[in-house]
Amino acid sequence: MSSEEVLKIGGEQTPYFRNDEFSQVMLENEKLMKEFVYASEDSRVIFVTGSGTAAMETTVMNVFTSKDKVLVVNGGGFGQRFVDLCELHDIPHDEIKLDFGQDITSEILDEYNNQGYTGFLVNICETSSCVHYDLDLISDFCRKNNIFLVVDAISSFLADPLNMTEKGIDVIITGSQKALACPPGISVIVLGEKALERVNANECKCMYFDLKDMLKNGERGQTPFTPAVSILLQINQRLKEIENQGGVEAEIKRITALANDFRDRIKDLPFEIHCKNMGNAVTGVYCVNSQASEIVDALKKEYGIWVNPSGGEVGEKMFRVGHIGNLTIEDNDKLIEAFQGLEKRGILK
Ligand SMILES: *Cc1c(COP(=O)(O)O)cnc(C)c1O
Repeated sequence: MSSEEVLKIGGEQTPYFRNDEFSQVMLENEKLMKEFVYASEDSRVIFVTGSGTAAMETTVMNVFTSKDKVLVVNGGGFGQRFVDLCELHDIPHDEIKLDFGQDITSEILDEYNNQGYTGFLVNICETSSCVHYDLDLISDFCRKNNIFLVVDAISSFLADPLNMTEKGIDVIITGSQKALACPPGISVIVLGEKALERVNANECKCMYFDLKDMLKNGERGQTPFTPAVSILLQINQRLKEIENQGGVEAEIKRITALANDFRDRIKDLPFEIHCKNMGNAVTGVYCVNSQASEIVDALKKEYGIWVNPSGGEVGEKMFRVGHIGNLTIEDNDKLIEAFQGLEKRGILK
């Protein structure tokens, strides 16, 4: 859910953008994004017009080449997407295939020490299963092996601690429609110094997703082509709201509290949580005796509450409850009351 002010911008006319006013907004967006992920002074931020996958593909195409050897964590739908992108763009890669909801361990990573890997791709919160991988382990492994680390934090940014400098992350990816709580349409790439070197040394065989071109235009707060102007204005509003409400740590704390409150309160209901290391953005809820789709539908039709169904093998059993954006403890109250209502009527079993 978006804030009232963000919604208001969405209802206004889209302004002309090839001017200083819009450039200042973009430069402020870059500054606040860098601050919120603890990026180094020389890092850069690119706003790509396209959903999160556009930033994933832009990154794979611009920072890696056929001379790389990339390790991809694949524990669900989004990990598979990185594998598919490496395949499509001829980036040599191996995947660490995990079970759905399984975390990465040092035993798993140990097998890949000293094997000549040059890049590492991970969706730090694999949103399909809700697992949040151990970033400390991954960061140590990449440092030790001198591996270039790309973190897709699309659903994790603003929900879980994320310190680019401390963890030695080279690229962080996020998107407008998760905890930034804006409409979909913009994805964000934060590039550290080593990433900028790679981009400048590589040739990108694509016009629209050429990071060199985006970086050049970005120096003056502009984009090569017409961006999703209104969403960028909404992102600006939202980043300033976070700043004014205590900054990134306050937002992470707020979302953590919402997630913990929800997870505590479903303990008395016929639900289970199967994933041990969940991110704060979303809870994967397993139904003991009910069909997940029936619960999702009943919440939508009878209570006006939207939770997310799951795809794939777990679709019948699992649905997902988000804790990001403009939600409060009162929203948790309403959801828990709705579950209790469904249970009383025998719909939730
Ligand atoms: C949402 C999400 C994406 C982006 O998906 P799009 O539909 O392209 O926005 C990528 N990775 C993760 C981990 C996500 O949660």
